[in-house]
This record gives sequence, structure tokens and C-alpha cells, in this order.
Amino acid sequence: MKIIMLGAPGAGKGTQAKMIAEKYMIPHISTGDIFRANIKEGTELGKQAKEYMDKGQLVPDSLTVNLLLDRVAKDDCKNGYVLDGFPRTIPQAEVLDEALSKLGENIDYAIDVDVPDENIINRMSGRRACVTCGATYHLKHIPPKKEGICDKCGSELILRDDDKPETVKKRLDVYHEQTQPLIDYYTNKGILKTVDGTKDMLEVFGDIVSILGN
Ligand code: ADP
Ligand code: AMP
Repeated sequence: MKIIMLGAPGAGKGTQAKMIAEKYMIPHISTGDIFRANIKEGTELGKQAKEYMDKGQLVPDSLTVNLLLDRVAKDDCKNGYVLDGFPRTIPQAEVLDEALSKLGENIDYAIDVDVPDENIINRMSGRRACVTCGATYHLKHIPPKKEGICDKCGSELILRDDDKPETVKKRLDVYHEQTQPLIDYYTNKGILKTVDGTKDMLEVFGDIVSILGN
């Protein structure tokens, strides 16, 4: 099963993608996580990506597309995957479709996690991410058991540099301009499913499971 998560930054794509990956035993692939891992390791890719990410801009396709195509070609992707944060533009979606169609494959579902802009700033300012394993929490809605510490691996939780309100506003503009058109793109392909992302995390997941099947 090949799934794409769509939605504004902070809509809950990563939160849901991790649960989907666990239930359906497929890898969760987040281009944002891959960039953040590279930043942490101090790679050349990380240095280049950070310049764009810190400004709330998209990382150029020249740094993003092959990275993703190489990742989905790996052995663990044979039974499918859940993509979180890719594609973010129509050209990215077209390249992915082309690569898949050469293999006689296609995306099965594009799930749009729908959350209005008014809720997003609050979601992002409360988001805390684990520096080591990438798990995400929300100070109010999904708090860790121990303040500032990851439940899963015990590392420190941080506010992402690009989750500061001024950068979030820019990311929302970029989303509306460049990513939202993907909703029509996948509607036209007949695979778009929309879920109400303002509901509680587990309710949203229940709605997604009803779409994907048990
Ligand atoms: P995205 O991957 O779309 O950027 P995240 O999954 O990281 O978004 O979620 C953004 C923030 O909102 C995180 O702090 C997360 O814990 C919180 N969150 C996710 N889903 C919900 C929900 N259904 N209700 C309330 N908060 C949520
Ligand atoms: P995310 O973790 O998905 O919120 O992504 C964080 C940041 O990484 C985005 O604001 C972009 O700067 C960059 N990024 C992640 N995925 C992509 C992508 N598919 N195309 C371009 N930039 C991306």
C-alpha cells in the first residue's frame, strides 16, 4: 500500500503517518526528517537544506527529488510506504508518478489531513520534537509523560527552529501557493481522501483506518 499524506504544516501528517506505518507495517518516509537528520550530522545536504528550511521555504527539487526516489527504491519499500512531506509541489508529484509508472506501480491513497489555518499556529508553537528519534508531542494536546523528555527514547525535546510563529506564517503561505494544488491533482486521479484533522489524534486515526481498511 502506497500512501501520501497531504495537509498544511502542523496538520498532523507525521503523527498519523507514524501510526499508519506501525499498523500496516510499512516504512514512514518524511523528507523533513531526512533533512533534519542531515542537519544534525552536519552533511553538505544538511547545510544546504537548512538555509531554506529556516526561512520557511521549500528545499529545491534538485536536492529533494532524487533523495526521495532513492529512498523508495530501497528493499523495505517493496510492500509500500507512507510519504509524509513529499510531494509538496506538482512537479514533485509528476516525477514520483513517472518513476512509479515505469515500474507499473501507482500511489493508492492521498490522505488530506484538513486543519484550518487558525489552528495551525497554535499546533506549531506547542509542538515539541525529539532531537534523537524524531517523535513529536504537543505541550497541551499530546504531552510527554515527563516534561521536556521523549517517552520513547529519553532524549531532550525541542521547539523546531522553523516552528517559530514568523516562520510558520511563511510556511503556510508556501503551503497554499505550492502544495495545496496537489489536492486537485489527486482528486483528479480519484485517490484523494479527506479527514478532519481537528479531531482528537486517535479519532483522526480511526477515520484513516476506515479508509485504508483493517
Ligand atoms: P505535520 O507532520 O503535519 O507537520 P505533526 O504531526 O508534527 O504535523 O503535528 C503538529 C503538532 O500538532 C504536534 O505538536 C502534534 O503533537 C500535534 N497534533 C497532531 N495531531 C493532533 C490532533 N489530532 N490534535 C491536537 N494536536 C495534534
Ligand atoms: P516538514 O518536516 O515536512 O514540516 O518539513 C520541514 C521543511 O523541510 C519544510 O518547510 C521544507 O523547507 C523542507 N522540506 C521537507 N520536505 C520537502 C519537500 N518535499 N520539498 C521541499 N522542501 C521540503
